[in-house]
Amino acid sequence: MLAPGVNMPRSRSGQCPRPRLSVYNGDVMKAMAVYTPAPIETDPLRAIELPEPEPGLREILVRIKTCGVCRTDLHVAEGDLPPRHPRIVPGHEIVGAVVRCGP
Ligand SMILES: [Zn+2]
Repeated sequence: MLAPGVNMPRSRSGQCPRPRLSVYNGDVMKAMAVYTPAPIETDPLRAIELPEPEPGLREILVRIKTCGVCRTDLHVAEGDLPPRHPRIVPGHEIVGAVVRCGP
């Protein structure tokens, strides 16, 4: 389920791309991940489900309500910036609520 009112960026072709959000949903987290960076028009993001992350030492778990997409995310998706790991989930400008705290 996606948060309402999300401001979706337009691709270079002018079409609205698929949502690029990560949503905490119980014990499964839905996310859009980049496996192989490619031009955004070729839809390099894939919808995946990941296990709910467990907050580690001095970490928090946030239920994301809204996630922005900035130019840095597009650079990562398109391969202009090297991804930090093979299956990166773009999106770091979020609004949410803390649902659990780690030790
Ligand atoms: Zn940013």
